[in-house]
Amino acid sequence: MAKFYEYQGKEWFKKYGIPIPEGFVAKSPEEAKDAASKIGKPVVVKAQVWAGGRGKGGFVKFADTPEEASEAARSIIGKEHRGLEVKTVLVEEKLPIKQEFYAGAIINSAQDVRGPVLMFSPDGGVDIESVPKDRIALLNVDVIKGLMPYDTIDMCVSMGIKGKVLRPAADIVFKLFKMFQGLDCRSLEINPLVVCEDGRVLAADCRMAIDDQALFRHPELGIKIGREFLKEPSEFDLIGWSFEESDFRGTSYVAEMAPPEEVKKGGYVGFHGIGGGAAMLGMDAMNRVGLKVSDFADTSGNPTASKVYRVVKLIMSQPGIEGYILAGFMMANQEQWHHAHGIVKALREELPKKPGFPAVILLCGNKEKESQEILKEGLGDLNARVEIYDREYVYDASFIGSRMRALVDEYRKERGVA
Ligand code: GDP
Ligand code: MN
Repeated sequence: MAKFYEYQGKEWFKKYGIPIPEGFVAKSPEEAKDAASKIGKPVVVKAQVWAGGRGKGGFVKFADTPEEASEAARSIIGKEHRGLEVKTVLVEEKLPIKQEFYAGAIINSAQDVRGPVLMFSPDGGVDIESVPKDRIALLNVDVIKGLMPYDTIDMCVSMGIKGKVLRPAADIVFKLFKMFQGLDCRSLEINPLVVCEDGRVLAADCRMAIDDQALFRHPELGIKIGREFLKEPSEFDLIGWSFEESDFRGTSYVAEMAPPEEVKKGGYVGFHGIGGGAAMLGMDAMNRVGLKVSDFADTSGNPTASKVYRVVKLIMSQPGIEGYILAGFMMANQEQWHHAHGIVKALREELPKKPGFPAVILLCGNKEKESQEILKEGLGDLNARVEIYDREYVYDASFIGSRMRALVDEYRKERGVA
């Protein structure tokens, strides 16, 4: 599911007519100070990360003056919240909160529902999982009939909302659903939905995730990689994703693991696994012999030779890598000759450009005999530093690791690298 930062979600709230506090994004204490000056009132400074629980974790801070806002930003930016580095903060008007509600929508995939569920609770500001069931109004929205404005009024009334707050709260729940549908969300939450002392009702937080399968319908969202991806994609990552985007046969997952400047310092090999478990084994095998992986690549599920070829070309394009490892550590239930063809074509093009560059290839599984023939015939005449292994070495991480290490050391020695 493609995720969004709170500030991005709130921009969409605005477009869908859901009121939000005035705010600005800041990447430094100085920018946070400027933002607070522009707002001209006490502010709240909020870490922008793809994780909740910021309030409890000390990643939502209050500031009465621009100087305090700058301090708050300084204490948040660069820190990690639930393993994610905070790079930006959202500086917003601090709301005089009187009440906190919850509004949200998800897709319920349970057999008897299989559709959108709209939720409203008068007990916001805490995890919705911790709110008693009888304090949450649920509505399975009929997608043919659609949602009516009175539906959300009913929901709010059923939870005891009345008076001046009723219409604006119900209106926000209604618009939340319009946005949920309009953007093909998997989940969309406002927690808290705030009632202020001065009577305003606004969305103080936003969590939004979009269905990856629907991203092609939403170029306006600007999502570059339509799968779980916890960092800003690099050029390498984007090229890797382009193989997947244009060819659904089999899967290829490619991600950069180390910045190119680091890789150039030495000790890195280009990594290519086949299947998740085998890939983990292969990464361990490298780490145990003191080698690091510059990328993570996994081609599996019977990918085409052309897909494998593109992945190997991308792996080999990383400047500074000192080896290539194909970690086919398991008896894969896919016809491995597609891998063999793709690898041969890519390495025939790449290895002659890098004399002495080592490649260790472990490939086993269906059509193994043919695959081994393709590899040996296809690479045998290159006079390159290539070792090819079959099922005799399946799971043998220490042997394969030691071979990669030995070849990398030979290659380093030849080039006069210590
Ligand atoms: P989360 O913990 O990651 O979900 O972050 P939230 O944006 O929901 O903020 C956590 C809590 O901080 C909220 O439930 C509020 O109690 C409080 N909070 C957030 N914004 C404001 C604000 O503008 N004014 C006040 N008084 N409290 C706020
Ligand atoms: Mn929240």
